Amino acid sequence: MTETTALLDTVLESIRDAVVVCDDARRLVRANKAFEALTGHSAAALLGGGDPDAAAAGATLTAALSSTGGLWQGTLVCAGGIGKAVEIRVAAVNGDGDFPSHYLGLVCQARDGGRDRGEGRFGHDDLTGLPNRDIFLDRVDRALLHCNRIGGSVALLMMGLDRFTMVNDALGHAAGDRLLVEVAHRLRHCIRETDTVVRLDGDKFAMVMTIADMDDSVIVAEKVLHSVKQPFAIDDQEVVVTFSIGIALFPQDAGDAPGLVKQAENALHHAKVSGRNQYQFFSKDMNRKAKLRLDLEARMRRALANHEFTVFYQPKVSNEDERLVGAEALVRWIDPDKGMISPGEFIPVAEETGLIEQIGAWVLRRSCEQTRGWQDMGLSPVKVSVNVSARQFRSRSFIETVTDILGDTGLDPRWLELEITESMLMNDVELAVRKMTAIRDLGVGLSIDDFGTGYSSLSYLGRFPITTLKIDRAFIADVDTNPKTAEIARAIIGLSRGLNLEVVAEGCEVAEHVAFLRTHGCSTVQGFYYSRPLPADQFQQMLAAGRVRRPKQ
Ligand code: C2E
Ligand code: MG
Ligand code: MG
Repeated sequence: MTETTALLDTVLESIRDAVVVCDDARRLVRANKAFEALTGHSAAALLGGGDPDAAAAGATLTAALSSTGGLWQGTLVCAGGIGKAVEIRVAAVNGDGDFPSHYLGLVCQARDGGRDRGEGRFGHDDLTGLPNRDIFLDRVDRALLHCNRIGGSVALLMMGLDRFTMVNDALGHAAGDRLLVEVAHRLRHCIRETDTVVRLDGDKFAMVMTIADMDDSVIVAEKVLHSVKQPFAIDDQEVVVTFSIGIALFPQDAGDAPGLVKQAENALHHAKVSGRNQYQFFSKDMNRKAKLRLDLEARMRRALANHEFTVFYQPKVSNEDERLVGAEALVRWIDPDKGMISPGEFIPVAEETGLIEQIGAWVLRRSCEQTRGWQDMGLSPVKVSVNVSARQFRSRSFIETVTDILGDTGLDPRWLELEITESMLMNDVELAVRKMTAIRDLGVGLSIDDFGTGYSSLSYLGRFPITTLKIDRAFIADVDTNPKTAEIARAIIGLSRGLNLEVVAEGCEVAEHVAFLRTHGCSTVQGFYYSRPLPADQFQQMLAAGRVRRPKQ
């Protein structure tokens, strides 16, 4: 056997597609293992012709491979005389001259043939009900097409259960099957409806999803690892298994579906040899980013325990008489090694991992405590505004947390304001309105932060029980030089007046910003012009003075 034929031989026997080969005289000369599995006929029986069912199948195949048009559909007699509806794709292999030397037939079960015969839905795995390998590549293809049209990326996750054979050996195949069904069930809960999870074979699954950025695939991979790691109850036994996951991204890692599959397989292999129970990206760069993210998460957990978070206060100033009227509480992380880390760096990761709920509750408690403390010292009371993240706001226990913190710290609710953003309100407007109403009923103020950058849906604005609009600093930055942004700022100020809301401009950096806002009736300003966010003790001094000392012009 030459090296090439040996190679082809290996390929043919290891692929999962059922393949038969005819020579130029349309005699069957080959059937691979996958064909044997699909039909139950051994290659020897098929080529030998002794078995009547195999002989019938052979005759059908010969006829199919002689047909022109590339696709043949019909019924194949399988072992035991069972008829299976199949589709056969025929390809001619060119020989030395102008004539084909061989014909290849790729045999697969027909799309609509299975159901009547009780063989499950085409393209679906009988055991788990998930889509199977037959339609996997098609789903990947579709995702790539969608991504080419709409933009974004596609993440392909190849997932293998670690040491599944051990479970099979220890508990038996029936238990192994039940475990796979449970795993499939959990996987379904890890994806969005628009994404696909398939069972490829045995303990191997895959997910195809469209993503806006790479972090989305990390979030899902972490969700999968976490979900599968929880013990399964199989036949009264507690079974613990883990997943290894390989991730490849389109268009970064490959330009087509087969390429993407290959890179995800490579990444999976890497995940397995690197110790299992983990995910690995195909690209080193992505692995580095994912590792940084994991490190950040672990450090954040430690930071909470070690009290490395602190709250800074940025003054809000009355635009009429420069009195100090309030403060925005802004979280800071003082890492013993890295120094001060800004919220822009860690809040998004805290939001994704859920840590934001603890961090946010801590910031709220600390801000209320401190504000009440200043009042107890006899300093003139000011309102403190605390940022609330989407996840905190969505949390069922949010109102309870606010109520508890107000109760524990003894802060009068009218000195507290919560800053939320429009995007947090638009998913489920009814629910958002109910939550906001509950907050207002406590006597707490509600401000829409970064106003003008989100949906800015005016029709909803009237329905939200809010007290304040906060003009995003993007509109303030060139309010004195760009007539268009000036117009937008003026419109927002007018809108708040019309709705009887307080209006605050953030990001006021220079005297011109403040002057413009004063001229146009914006009552409160916040920004570097008056002061950067300050540690509590410095803010306390400012509070004692009652006024914000402006930097010398
Ligand atoms: P934000 O709520 O819009 O806060 C205003 C941000 O603008 C702050 O950045 C503040 O330092 C900055 N800033 C204030 N005045 C000026 C100015 O004149 N010029 C410029 N260029 N920037 C100014 P910071 O503290 O880095 O916070 C960034 C964002 O992180 C905040 O935006 C908020 O969305 C989030 N954040 C901060 N603290 C918390 C928190 O405790 N919880 C939650 N969920 N988010 C927080
Ligand atoms: Mg804010
Ligand atoms: Mg803001």
